[in-house]
Amino acid sequence: MKITDMTLLGLVRAMDAGEVTSVEATEATLKETEEKKDLGAYVTVCAERALEEAKAADARRRAGERLPLLGVPIAVKDNICTEGVRTTCASRFLENYVPPYDAFVVKKLKSAGAVTVGKANMDEFAMGSGSEYSAFYPVKNAVDKTRVAGGSSGGSAVAAASYQAFAALGSDTGGSIRQPASFNGVVGLKPTYSAVSRNGLIAFASSLDQIGPIARTVGDCRAVYDVIKGHDAGDSTSYAGDLDKGERVTSLKGRRIGVAKEFFGEGLDGEVRAAVERAIAFYAEQGAEIVETSIRSFDMALACYYILSSAEASSNLSRYDGVKYGRRAEGCRTIDDIYYKSRTEFFGAEVKRRIMLGNFVLSSGYYDAFYLRASKARTLIKRDFEQALSGCDALIGPTAPTTAYRSGMSEADPAAAYLGDVYTVPVNIAGLPAISVPCGNGGSGLPIGMQLIGRPFCEETLLSLAEIYEKECGR
Ligand code: GLN
Repeated sequence: MKITDMTLLGLVRAMDAGEVTSVEATEATLKETEEKKDLGAYVTVCAERALEEAKAADARRRAGERLPLLGVPIAVKDNICTEGVRTTCASRFLENYVPPYDAFVVKKLKSAGAVTVGKANMDEFAMGSGSEYSAFYPVKNAVDKTRVAGGSSGGSAVAAASYQAFAALGSDTGGSIRQPASFNGVVGLKPTYSAVSRNGLIAFASSLDQIGPIARTVGDCRAVYDVIKGHDAGDSTSYAGDLDKGERVTSLKGRRIGVAKEFFGEGLDGEVRAAVERAIAFYAEQGAEIVETSIRSFDMALACYYILSSAEASSNLSRYDGVKYGRRAEGCRTIDDIYYKSRTEFFGAEVKRRIMLGNFVLSSGYYDAFYLRASKARTLIKRDFEQALSGCDALIGPTAPTTAYRSGMSEADPAAAYLGDVYTVPVNIAGLPAISVPCGNGGSGLPIGMQLIGRPFCEETLLSLAEIYEKECGR
């Protein structure tokens, strides 16, 4: 077996048993990144640094130390700050930005002994669903290079799927962990809002952004999640209470899985529907009770998301002005020139679209009609999910309405790309945890993902439900 084919947990066991070293695993991983460069999964590969970290990990292990991720090569999305390593957000604006500090989650990874392979490519400022909006080069799907990787954490998902890392960190504002995970046949967990610190995550929409793991198995996702979660005084929204409200489900007897009809409406591809229905049948056969439920406000979620997220983005991105943050355009003579030219030159088209949309919905005269109404809709959406989840352990549905689409489509029709977020964004609006798990392939061999959505801080319930499915039906 190739080292890179091992699961993350398998690698840790093998290293603990002295069968392989972190240097070997890291070299093998770096070789994959070289051979698969054309997939565009990384913006930056930290080869030398990773090997140094691997050597140090091997020494610690030899000295008897045991840590959950000691010596494990992991990729970090390029909107998560890494001290001394360029963090670009896949934007020209931050092309040369080297953070002077590590994000909270990176500190956590380091203290668990992980090796950072590099910084994963993404949609610029995490805005997009295909990872085609990277200012540098697009990410290609790990299964079919003519298809999109999904986004915005496309690089993270492809790195995990194509053995260029044992796991990766992504971020999910409206689906950016789950959708690329589903498009590449890997597992992605979007944690409950506030379970993982956002300190050091470059902000897109602060009330929705959440960091989480992507890996090839559910168990590997759990291992990374257990390391990165936790309270952080450096993030004012970080949750200080009990993060482990879930339970480790071992039998489906007496469990209730909710199916909300809105997740199976018009626009859902037949093969995706069929795959998710098979998964539902599996849970039923295992003894779970399938309960029909409804999220009445579901139809408002997509519009609500694009209003709220763009509003927050327009505010968060106002700091990139060529003065305080980011690059400055050449040849500016006045302060207005600096703002105008720098923002014109260094933001891509999609980012500009969001900034304009955000400024529009926040502008006086339109504020009540858009932002305020979206905020009210958010309350309804939250309440409907709460109600639906009070009667079951988890909700099940598709992660995305289709499998990975052909490259170039998001640029051709941005609104169609927004529609693809229909099943993921409601979860961010409600602040809930959700996991995307592979549930088969479509006729063209493209992976399909299903989504399990849970109650706040019940990640373990989702992970264990997903694991039961993976054990019986997974690859
Ligand atoms: N596709 C969504 C968007 O473009 C979600 C992005 C994300 O979760 N970062 O906004």
